[in-house]
Amino acid sequence: MASSHQSIGSGSSRSRSEQNRVVLCYHNEPAPVKTMRYNGPTLGRRFYGCPNWPNNTCGFFRWADEVDDIRQLQFKIQEYITEIVELQMSHEMVEEEHKKLKKKYDKQQEELEESWMENATIRDGLYSANANKRLMLALVVSWVFFAALLLMN
Ligand SMILES: [Zn+2]
Repeated sequence: MASSHQSIGSGSSRSRSEQNRVVLCYHNEPAPVKTMRYNGPTLGRRFYGCPNWPNNTCGFFRWADEVDDIRQLQFKIQEYITEIVELQMSHEMVEEEHKKLKKKYDKQQEELEESWMENATIRDGLYSANANKRLMLALVVSWVFFAALLLMN
């Protein structure tokens, strides 16, 4: 069982949990790692115990491999939390970007509508100007035609 546990804790998470390997007893003192010396199923298993044992012990006791398991879980949780925070941040950034784009889009839409209205007025103006020109041209042509008719007689 101990050997299968060792194979799980390979890699960077292992070395990192090794760095802050300070287990405190109920006295708030660093608990040393000891090895079980009593004959029995737990012989040779490592554990953390109170440094003041046996004179002034607080009764603190933790199996070292269980502490490692908890440490790894805590480390993984920390990693997940970091990931979640990063995701939240990027989500907020995306939302912010979305808001900006929406604002830009609305503004452009407004400008487009304005320019459409402007175009419509210009078009109307051009149309009436062209109509006037055509009217003038028809008038001139009819006058020329009339004058030509008079000259021919
Ligand atoms: Zn203690």
